[in-house]
Amino acid sequence: MLRLHSYRYHRPAALADALALLAEHGPAAMVMAGGTDLMPNMKHRLFTPDHVVALKGVAELRGIEEREGELRLGAAETLAAVSRSALVRAWLPALARAAGLVAGPQLRNMGTIGGNICLDTRCTYYNQTEFWRSALGFCLKKDGTVCHVTKVGRKCVAAHSADTPPVLMTLGAVLDLASPRGTRTVPVADFFVADGVRNTVRAADEVVTSVRAPLPGPGSRAGFEKLRQRGAIDFPLLNVAVALELEGDVVASLRVVVSALGARPRFIGGLEKLAGERPDAALLEAVARRALDQAHPLENITVDTEWRRAMVPVLVRRALAQALAGPPGGPPPTG
Ligand SMILES: Cc1cc2nc3c(=O)[nH]c(=O)nc-3n(C[C@H](O)[C@H](O)[C@H](O)COP(=O)(O)OP(=O)(O)OC[C@H]3O[C@@H](n4cnc5c(N)ncnc54)[C@H](O)[C@@H]3O)c2cc1C
Repeated sequence: MLRLHSYRYHRPAALADALALLAEHGPAAMVMAGGTDLMPNMKHRLFTPDHVVALKGVAELRGIEEREGELRLGAAETLAAVSRSALVRAWLPALARAAGLVAGPQLRNMGTIGGNICLDTRCTYYNQTEFWRSALGFCLKKDGTVCHVTKVGRKCVAAHSADTPPVLMTLGAVLDLASPRGTRTVPVADFFVADGVRNTVRAADEVVTSVRAPLPGPGSRAGFEKLRQRGAIDFPLLNVAVALELEGDVVASLRVVVSALGARPRFIGGLEKLAGERPDAALLEAVARRALDQAHPLENITVDTEWRRAMVPVLVRRALAQALAGPPGGPPPTG
């Protein structure tokens, strides 16, 4: 049995109290939302904070609302709530879909959108017990000096494995962060960095309070596809989010994000050259080809790397077809 270390559990009801706890305990404190990732990681001794600051009771982190041309989601809203929300399903169906494809029902009832955005990266050589990891002399991400994936690399390549951030990136969403030093807003597209050890720009004492996405126009379409071993529970082996703007019968702009391959989700480059094209099979093929050329999965998870790469164009085509077949985002039906 894996046991937790001893720590103090704090359950503040207000953001100011949470931030005061983070200021008081500094690096000895960590925030926890649903705990679906942090708890297993603590049992594996990947994190051993002396103080855990629970966020689910913090009122400012709750609520899903339409406001001033945006949809605002409190960071402590559960993935189940996000996937079922009438507002999210109507305005941002790709986000509802991604949230609804995370793990399984129990984990979506506990796990939050904020925790999903701040999810730690994953690797075969990292998500193991302390005993397992010690047998290899640990690894670059935690307690060691060698990356067992690349053997020679000095940069951790553990995989970004969260499902909602790619969608939020394609939708142009932003994150509101608060810390004892103040507040700031960061586009989701700028939140992630290519360092598997600490793969976001979030400081240890910063709390994501909300995520805000602009309401899409009538020409907007979006889609999300995910590859995993089983149809439920499993983390993504690969995920693809797409968003496009249609003007008449042509594509005015197109954004594609591919993730779960390396330390951060990545936009596929060069798609601006496809603006003005009709959304037909040739366009889907051109996007799929660009995505394949730019996808370079590493052996950071146990599943075959060549298969994950070969599935990139397949998922890109599916996500684009899904987006084009779906309705534009709009207000939820009344009555
Ligand atoms: C069996 C299993 C399968 C899973 N499958 C998937 C999957 O398919 N797709 C997927 O995306 N995830 C998956 N997960 C991971 C996890 O369940 C989800 O990502 C979930 O959304 C994490 O949210 P949480 O609230 O539980 O985060 P927590 O575990 O509470 O926190 C995760 C990290 O984020 C930080 N954090 C949490 N909230 C905030 C905040 N508001 N501000 C700043 N930092 C914060 C914590 O300090 C911690 O570092 C799986 C987990 C398990 C155990």
